[in-house]
This record gives sequence, C-alpha cells and structure tokens, in this order.
Amino acid sequence: MTAFEVTGLAQERAWHADAFPPVEQVRPGLWSIPVPIPKNPLRYVLVYALELDDGVAVIDTGWNTDEAWTALEGGLHHAGYAIADVRAALITHIHPDHYGLAGRLRDASGAWVALHPADAQLVPARYGIGIDRLLQEMRALLVQCGVPAEVLEELTAASMGIREFVALAQPDVLLEDRARVDISGWDLMTVHTPGHSPGHVCFYDRKRRLLISGDHVLPRISPNISVHAQQTGNPLAEFLDALATVRALDVDEVLPAHEWRFRGLQARIDELVAHHTHRLRETEDVLRKDPGVTCWDATLRLSWSREWAQIKGFMRRAAIGETLAHLVLLERDGRARREGRDPVRWYAAVPAQVRG
Ligand SMILES: [Zn+2]
Repeated sequence: MTAFEVTGLAQERAWHADAFPPVEQVRPGLWSIPVPIPKNPLRYVLVYALELDDGVAVIDTGWNTDEAWTALEGGLHHAGYAIADVRAALITHIHPDHYGLAGRLRDASGAWVALHPADAQLVPARYGIGIDRLLQEMRALLVQCGVPAEVLEELTAASMGIREFVALAQPDVLLEDRARVDISGWDLMTVHTPGHSPGHVCFYDRKRRLLISGDHVLPRISPNISVHAQQTGNPLAEFLDALATVRALDVDEVLPAHEWRFRGLQARIDELVAHHTHRLRETEDVLRKDPGVTCWDATLRLSWSREWAQIKGFMRRAAIGETLAHLVLLERDGRARREGRDPVRWYAAVPAQVRG
C-alpha cells in the first residue's frame, strides 16, 4: 500500500502562503484549474479540464459568480481553449461550488451537463419551485433534533444564502454507476459514491490510474456527511461503503475537488474510516453519560475542530446533520436507540458494564 504523499506540491505551498494555486497540466491533455469560492475556508474548487478531439470537457464548474467565471475562462485559455470549446460539464455532485456555473456554461457553450440521477432529482427542490416545501421539511427535522426555538428559524434557512450561487439547470445526461462517460479519447468510468450528497460520483481513469474524487476523498479534511431533508436514510453507512468501493480500485494519483493532489488513496481512506470509528465511539459515550440527549445536545457535547461559539449558520447545521448521521449508524448497528419525537431522545443501547 502506498503511503500518503502530497503530489500537488504547488497547491499545498500556495495554501500555506494564503495564495491562489496555479493552473497546472496534470497529465498530457488533463488540466487542473482552481476556481475561487467566495467567503469559504475551502477557498477554491479544482475544475479538471480534459482535452477531447473536438474541444474540452470539464469536471465540476465552480460557483455562479463573475469572479469564478473569469477564473474558469482564464484557466481554459491557459490550456488553449475558450468557453465556446466546452463540450461537456461532468458534475461530481449538486453542491454550489461544483454545480453552480453549469447552467451558465451550457448557455455560453452548448455543452451538455451531466449529473448522477440521485442528485438530478434534487435540483427542483433545492434550487427551484420546491424550496418552500424543503424549508418545511428542514424545519421539521431540526425540531426532531431538539434545536431550541431561538435558533430554529436561523438554522432552517441557513443554506438559503448560497442558493444565489447556482443557476437552476436540469442536467442533459444522467451519470449511471459504473458506466463509461461518453467523451472522445477518454475511457472514464463513473463510480457512484453517495454520502456527501446522495448522487455524488467519482470518475476513474483505469489506464492513467487516476481517480477524480470530487469531495468523496480529500487530502486534509473529512467531507461533511449529514442526514438532512434531502438526504434521509443512512448516509454515513453509504459513505463508508463507497469508501470501500473506491479503495478497491487500482489508483496511482487522486485528483480531488479541493486542497491538493495526492498519492496513497488507501492510506487516506483508512484515516477517514478511523475518524468515523472514533467519532461513533465518542457519540456513543455521550449517550452513555447523558441518556436521553437530543441530537442538538449531543452535537454540543462532541468536540469540533473549533469552539462551538465560532461555528455559525450553515456550518452549525452541517454539524447537527453530521451528528445525526452518526446516531443513525449507531442505531443500525444496535448501539443506540431512539425514543419519542419532536424531539427524538437518544440512548446507548448497550449498558456500560456489558460492553467489552
Ligand atoms: Zn466541494
């Protein structure tokens, strides 16, 4: 197993220097184009441009801002292309930093836009006519989580501010799991990797031994895995299964959508799995110490990368959703149980003395 090793050295250097990373040619015919994300600690999304016989395909696009558009245009120009040359926009998932510019790009170039069916299905509710219903569902979920009345409205609407960064666009093409992507000169396979979003996908190039990983596997941070109104069920279980799926691929280098390129996919996946294993135990300990906590209470008792008071708005909601994802997985594994509704109260299923 290859040890973890940063290969996007210029990207990592730029990060530490608080600078913007360069456009880079990663392989012949394959470019990495950083596109800025406003007011976000991730700073940029990495768009990958793949040279075709008759133009260029992009993987992800950036937010729908003029600044992002200019960066994308500039990056393509650096690679020898114009916006009008874009034939396809393959999107790893529905989040605004990936999907936001897809509609504008299609309007300007005639490119087809592709998304996994599970995310395509969410477009109307998230960015269109279904928004009121989505807000109601979100509010109901937060009430179940025991979110106090004084912050309920704020957290319900926490993601509304970023909606303006997405042009509503239904995809033209659906990306099915394990299917070959229809672009000339490339043998690229879609791998469905739900968790960060229900329809998240990675793209695998077997010949070049590359994994374009979107947000599924990033070199430094662990992607947010949340239960929320558009992601019910057991997203953490799906995420862990999807990590096992990509871990089995023969991959030399990983091309993520944020931060920097790296080698050692399996080592990085093992770290991510260890992180969640630890987090599940930590969550279980909270239930044991405080039987009957709500998801909100549990979230406040867990440790986060910064003080809770400094976690605001959308990040707070992401934290609640992440805690709930861990509770749901503990419940599936027989380690937690719930009682009641509005709010749901959580208990450790196995008493401390029985636990080995
Ligand atoms: Zn992202």
